[in-house]
Amino acid sequence: MEQLDCDVLIVGGGNAALCAALSAKENGGKVLVLETAPKDWRGGNSQHTRNLRSMHTEPTDVLSGSYTEDEFYEDVYRVSEGETNEEYARFVISQTPKIVQWAKSYGVRFQPSLGGTLQLGRTNAFFLGGGKALLNAYYHAAKRLGIEVVYECEALDLCIQDDICKYILVRNKKTGETKKIKAKSYVIASGGFESNLTWLKEAWGARADNFLIRGTRYNQGLMLKVLKKEGAKILGDPTQGHMVAIDARAPKYDGGIVSRVDCVSLGIVVNKNAQRFYDEGEDFWPKRYAIWGRLVANQPDQIAYCITDSKVLDKYMPSLFPPIVASSIADLAEILKLDKNALEKTVSDYNNSVVPSKFDHMILDGCKTKGLEIEKTHWAQKVDTPPFYCYPLRPGITFTYLGVKVTKNAQIVKEDGSVCKNLFAAGEIMAGNILSKGYVAGFGMSIGSVFGKIAGENAAKFF
Ligand SMILES: Cc1cc2nc3c(=O)[nH]c(=O)nc-3n(C[C@H](O)[C@H](O)[C@H](O)COP(=O)(O)OP(=O)(O)OC[C@H]3O[C@@H](n4cnc5c(N)ncnc54)[C@H](O)[C@@H]3O)c2cc1C
Repeated sequence: MEQLDCDVLIVGGGNAALCAALSAKENGGKVLVLETAPKDWRGGNSQHTRNLRSMHTEPTDVLSGSYTEDEFYEDVYRVSEGETNEEYARFVISQTPKIVQWAKSYGVRFQPSLGGTLQLGRTNAFFLGGGKALLNAYYHAAKRLGIEVVYECEALDLCIQDDICKYILVRNKKTGETKKIKAKSYVIASGGFESNLTWLKEAWGARADNFLIRGTRYNQGLMLKVLKKEGAKILGDPTQGHMVAIDARAPKYDGGIVSRVDCVSLGIVVNKNAQRFYDEGEDFWPKRYAIWGRLVANQPDQIAYCITDSKVLDKYMPSLFPPIVASSIADLAEILKLDKNALEKTVSDYNNSVVPSKFDHMILDGCKTKGLEIEKTHWAQKVDTPPFYCYPLRPGITFTYLGVKVTKNAQIVKEDGSVCKNLFAAGEIMAGNILSKGYVAGFGMSIGSVFGKIAGENAAKFF
């Protein structure tokens, strides 16, 4: 195995790890990054991202209008139904403007602020070229600064004695060789456990067999398990996380953003019994897409079907996969292997309940149903104009919230309340300090960037 001596050892190769590595380097010392993935797949879930959420008091080159700390926090509070840590949430939010500038200083480029439908141009700074480009910029900067990165190297275990991390045990996946690495300080930024199918099954039961993982296959939660074994305080509920309804034909891993199905609010969604189960028009899709993963997870066999007709074909972004097309609801039922009579009844009951109004998918319009057990409260138009289109849906896990407790210096806290002096955590593995339920788009990268930078800084100051 390569010579792996260093002052600061970073475990992980995504956004939080790279922020920690660069920030540690800024503060001196020899920095080493261990990434379990091969180089081509480096970057974990961060490679799939598009943006980070940032507060700002006036328009900037990358964000329009203003988005204050209070408004940002209110958004977090609302989606989490109050289940967030206000002190930590506000702490992250307040650091976001600095993070955007800091990222730029390492060559990360952002798109000019976006106008348009999703209203994200005010709240979210979009990476030009997406998460891959962001990571490439950070990896190039790391190389330039002499930070060593070892790929296909997995952290297997670590040892904490008297609140000091003594070493990390690592395995070179190419040779199978294992080795203890001793550093002065350590940052664990190895993501959540969302890629670990066995663990998902422990949390969700047999339902997890039908889950798809939107991101990397490498976030197996190994270090989370190890930290728990070593006495770290674990926060959160293993079934909580960010789960989106995605195209059921997406691959098991790494389907990414393009497998998301965005036409739910324009049609109806039925389960395998051909029954509707939730108000598809409750609110704008960007505010609701993150609840549909759990809704589908709780349906029989974790499958659902989003059905629209030709009237709305040009009103949404299509998924990566072509829709299933049929000239009648009966034909669609046959293709989907649903009960024909049940599907025809569901569609005709729905159609007969639509209250005529002016359809406008850009506002919370007056198109709704009246008289159904589950009403559709906006954008309800009859599904009556062939051809009919269908996207099959499965729960797609984005990331899990179970994680380790940290101080605001990113130091890992133990079950007995003591603080590990030279052991830090950043990113998904500690996002549960702030996220315990619900999600606002872009906050994952805000948390990972802010805590990554802090973890690196403090890890370097430790010696
Ligand atoms: C499809 C998709 C789209 C998303 N879009 C957005 C978005 O636009 N904005 C946003 O804020 N968030 C988004 N997210 C969430 C975001 O990806 C995460 O919040 C963020 O990437 C977490 O960063 P991280 O560095 O903690 O983890 P990751 O980026 O997942 O990095 C973890 C790293 O640790 C490595 N690793 C794991 N175990 C070990 C081990 N034992 N030893 C060594 N290395 C290990 C992995 O290979 C990986 O490189 C998205 C997620 C997905 C899946």
